[in-house]
Amino acid sequence: MMSGFSRSYAVGLLAGATLLTTAACGSGSAETAAGGRPEVVAAFYPLQWLTEQVGGSDAHVTVLTAPGVEPHDLELSIQQVTEIQKAALTVYIKGVQPAVDDAVDADKSFDAATAVTTLPASGHEEGEEEHGHEVSYDPHLWLDPTRLATIAAKLGERLAAADPAHAQAYKDRAAKTAGALGTLDQEFAKGLSTCRTKSLVTAHEAFGYLADRYKLKQVGITLDPETEPSPARISEVAKLAKAEGVTTIFTESLVSPKVAEVLANEVGAKTAVLDPLESRPSGDYLSAMRDNLKTLQTALGCTA
Ligand SMILES: [Zn+2]
Repeated sequence: MMSGFSRSYAVGLLAGATLLTTAACGSGSAETAAGGRPEVVAAFYPLQWLTEQVGGSDAHVTVLTAPGVEPHDLELSIQQVTEIQKAALTVYIKGVQPAVDDAVDADKSFDAATAVTTLPASGHEEGEEEHGHEVSYDPHLWLDPTRLATIAAKLGERLAAADPAHAQAYKDRAAKTAGALGTLDQEFAKGLSTCRTKSLVTAHEAFGYLADRYKLKQVGITLDPETEPSPARISEVAKLAKAEGVTTIFTESLVSPKVAEVLANEVGAKTAVLDPLESRPSGDYLSAMRDNLKTLQTALGCTA
C-alpha cells in the first residue's frame, strides 16, 4: 500500500515537472514521463495487461487498482486523480468503477466499452442495489477474448494518436496482441465444444461475455460481489442448478465463498474458483484465462 502510494505520488511529481519543462519549451501536447514516454493510466488489471502489451516500451503504464483490491469499490486518492488529469490517456470501462468514471476527462480517455458490442446487464431481483454497475450494459467485457482483441486494435489507434512518433509500433503490438487473443479464443471454442452441461453457476455474475461467446448459460447468484443475495434468490438458483445437472458452483478469490458454499450445500455440488480477472492474477491475462478454461472443462464435463 505504502509503496503504491509513494510511487503514484512520485509519478505525479514527475509529470508535474515535465509539464513545466514542456510549457517552457512551448512544445508537446500529451504529458510525458521521464524519457519522453507518454503516461498511460489503466483502471484495473485486464486493461493494464492490454495497455502494457500494446504500449510496450514506448508508453509508461500505471494502474489505479492495486493487486488484491476489489475494483468495483475503488476510491481514488487525490494523487490518483492528479495522475489521471496529467496522463496522455486513461484506459477504463465505464460502469466498472464509478470513481474512475467521474475522474476521467472525455478527451484524454478511452472507454473500452465503446469499442465493442455490449450485452445488456442481466436481470436481478427488483430493488437490488447494483453498486458499481450503474450502466445498462454488463461491463465485464474483458472475459471474451475476441472483444478484448477488438479493444486492443482500437487502443493501438488511440496510443498512436497520442504519440505519433511511435504510431506504427503501437499498431504492430496491437495486432500481435489481438493475434494472441485470437489463439486463446480458438482454445476456448474447442475446449468447451462438447460438455455434459452448459450451465455456469457463479457467485459473482461476471461471465456473461464468456458465456455468450462459448454458448454457455450463466446463472449468477449476484452481480455485485459486495451484496448478499436473499434466501429466495439462493433457493431459486439452487432449483435451477439441480434441474440443469450442475455439479460445481463457481466462486472467486477476492470475494468470500460463503454464498457459493451455502448454495453448493443445498445443491449437493462442490465449489471451484473461476477468476473474473478483476485483479492481477499470479500469471497474466492469458495464463489465468487458460486456468479458467481447465476449471470449466472439469466442472462442465467437457471432453474435447
Ligand atoms: Zn464485477
